[in-house]
Amino acid sequence: MPSAKDKRPSYTSAVHGGEPREFAHNSLSLPIVQTATYTFRNTAELVAYMEGHREREEYGRYGNPTVRVLEERVAALEGAEDAAAFSSGMAATTSAILALVGQGSHVVLFNDCYRRTRQFVSTFLSRFGVRFTLIGSADLAALEAAIEPDTKLVISEAPTNPFLAVVDLPRMAEICRARRIKTLVDATFATPFNLRPVELGVDLVIHSATKYLSGHNDVLAGVVAGKAGLVSLVRDVRHMMGAICDPHAAYLVHRGLKTLALRIAHQNASAQALAETLERHPAVARVYYPGLPSHPNHATAVALMRGYGGVVTFELKGDLASTGRFVDALKIPRIAPSLGGVESLVEQPALMSYFELSTEQRERIGMKDTLVRYAVGIEDQAELIGDVTEALRVAEIPG
Ligand code: PLP
Repeated sequence: MPSAKDKRPSYTSAVHGGEPREFAHNSLSLPIVQTATYTFRNTAELVAYMEGHREREEYGRYGNPTVRVLEERVAALEGAEDAAAFSSGMAATTSAILALVGQGSHVVLFNDCYRRTRQFVSTFLSRFGVRFTLIGSADLAALEAAIEPDTKLVISEAPTNPFLAVVDLPRMAEICRARRIKTLVDATFATPFNLRPVELGVDLVIHSATKYLSGHNDVLAGVVAGKAGLVSLVRDVRHMMGAICDPHAAYLVHRGLKTLALRIAHQNASAQALAETLERHPAVARVYYPGLPSHPNHATAVALMRGYGGVVTFELKGDLASTGRFVDALKIPRIAPSLGGVESLVEQPALMSYFELSTEQRERIGMKDTLVRYAVGIEDQAELIGDVTEALRVAEIPG
């Protein structure tokens, strides 16, 4: 029997998956339907639609044909029944969570899931009577221990940011399914090219399409995919919250998806080579990359993933200042808080997401001052590695 790994989306499905054979006006590329509302020819047509005899668009907040084609493409790539597209990754995440929890619900989150997702549950939803438990990275024993009678949702990420932990998703899904708990996995870092959580038993997968799916650092969008019934619940939240993907943004994500397989295959290979080079370098204290045997979740990653993604995280020997010198000496990547596009990006988390903490506070949560997150783009692999090696030399990192 083919494993989920064998059924990964082909290069062909990245270009054509879920797409109608013909678009309006015989256009080869996806038309952008730029409208806020949709007209009814007459009252009879309106009534037929209202009685459910006609399927069509009604109003821009509820749906758009350009957005719909993107949704079908994402569903095809994820091996999911349906998908819904949003104006950002956080709009997708918050809408999915709101669809699955209510007052008195208990939510379990792995403590290394996206910071804003954690904040949404811990500081925002807690105002409305939602309770939560944070558990350690990829720790399924802790998950079993944290489950309560009111637990409705488990939220995970794969791989996580910035340490790239990979939880055993089939086992996590099994634990939750047995207790009728829904599972939500943010697979932004993996993409469906590398990992398909829905096929592994997860209920809903979400992506910040701002990252690899669009792939060009030029648009904000998000998607949720899974079983049709669940996606329909999430879409109902979108109807009310209003965070539907804009048709221009949907067009850009859809265009980006055509090259997803090419980009991810290239980024996987470059990141693996960069991680291996860094691991051998005397100025590097530690490398976190699931494709390295030294990564704590390497075996799980090998079992579940086709490639290990474009992000490499590493700790330098030295301190905050010398790590900053290294980042400044890099000539190819730009300093910016994102990932997944064609341009390589780099950040020192101590000076970005964790800026407000002291060195000691950062140490306590394992976020060292010398940590660097490098998101590989599609530049020449040898040039990226040469640039990193030269920057380590210029920055005079002690090794
Ligand atoms: N999930 C992950 C893993 C992310 O890295 C991000 C953004 O950095 C998000 C979700 C949120 O996505 P967006 O910025 O598109 O709202």
